[in-house]
Amino acid sequence: MAEPSLVAAGEEPEERAIEAALRPKNLDDFVGQHRVRKQLSLVLQASRMRGRTADHVLFSGPPGLGKTTLAMIVAAEMNAPLRLSSGPAIQHAGDLAAILSSLSEGEVLFLDEIHRMSRPAEEMLYMAMEDFRVDIVVGKGAGATAIPLELPPFTLVGATTRAGLLPGPLRDRFGFTGHLEFYSVAELELVLRRSAGLLDLKVNSAGFAEIAGRSRGTPRIANRLLRRVRDWALVHGVEQIDARTASAALDMYEVDKKGLDRLDRAVLDALITKFGGGPVGLSTLAIAVGEETETVETVAEPFLVREGLLGRTPRGRIAMAPAWTHLGYAIPSGVFAQEQLDLFEPGGDAPVAGDWAPESQ
Ligand code: ADP
Repeated sequence: MAEPSLVAAGEEPEERAIEAALRPKNLDDFVGQHRVRKQLSLVLQASRMRGRTADHVLFSGPPGLGKTTLAMIVAAEMNAPLRLSSGPAIQHAGDLAAILSSLSEGEVLFLDEIHRMSRPAEEMLYMAMEDFRVDIVVGKGAGATAIPLELPPFTLVGATTRAGLLPGPLRDRFGFTGHLEFYSVAELELVLRRSAGLLDLKVNSAGFAEIAGRSRGTPRIANRLLRRVRDWALVHGVEQIDARTASAALDMYEVDKKGLDRLDRAVLDALITKFGGGPVGLSTLAIAVGEETETVETVAEPFLVREGLLGRTPRGRIAMAPAWTHLGYAIPSGVFAQEQLDLFEPGGDAPVAGDWAPESQ
């Protein structure tokens, strides 16, 4: 496995603790995503007015855009307790039954990476979401009996980086679905200002702009880069972080001006140097850079597609013309520009942000 990239890193306990401290606690502190925020606020307000448990909610979008944060906000705004679990942790229907049967009335159950739940658990969830009831199967074979178990009304908040992989019946059972978009640089500057305040850091406007511009539209990355710049400033005795400090620090961490990190550049470099610019299947590409297919698909790819550096075609991934120039290669003839790719896939399977279709190999 390749060394972890700065963008995909962040599983260390200290990182997680700081991330938790920086999480907005209510909708007013949550920056950006105006449409989702407005719609969600209305859903929650209406539930409160009716004195009912909120409808089930699904958030989709790339990692680090605020899905977990919003789930916590849903619980806080509904004044309800919150239970956290995830699809990969629920491998058997029994795992889910244990969680569901211990929920209290009105509790918010957050299931991260809900598309990775096992099929039997998923089927149990359908009934739980719709009728607040599950059938617990006791015994095996011909003697097996299903014992119905009533559940208290609860709110399921699901999160997925791969909405395209969610089966229709599951998707349909959510009363509200919010797709989170990448953040603008101006929005990321607001995220950074808030975090710098909480971390007691002195950063000027140009410093914020420099970090925001390299944060690939993602608050989690913005906060992470801010902490790395903070480290650099501390070691170099810098009191106030400005553009020059931020730039020097982030160059050292190999986060370039466009926000591409080591993994992004490795993906593009492999596409260009090993596969002549593509097309190449996603899993082959992942092997070439020594990463999990899912990491390449959910962490690197959405941003590269959005920046017009990588294209998805029915025959595999291709390096777009700007990728060659960004990495300092001359563009050979026959390499696609974005407009050509749009023509190539009329009607919209063109790679755009928010295209979460399952991989096409
Ligand atoms: P996801 O669940 O989508 O991977 P998280 O909700 O864990 O993302 O968000 C990652 C971090 O980014 C959080 O700790 C939070 O501090 C920050 N963050 C995310 N969205 C926002 C936002 N809209 N405003 C401010 N901070 C945010």
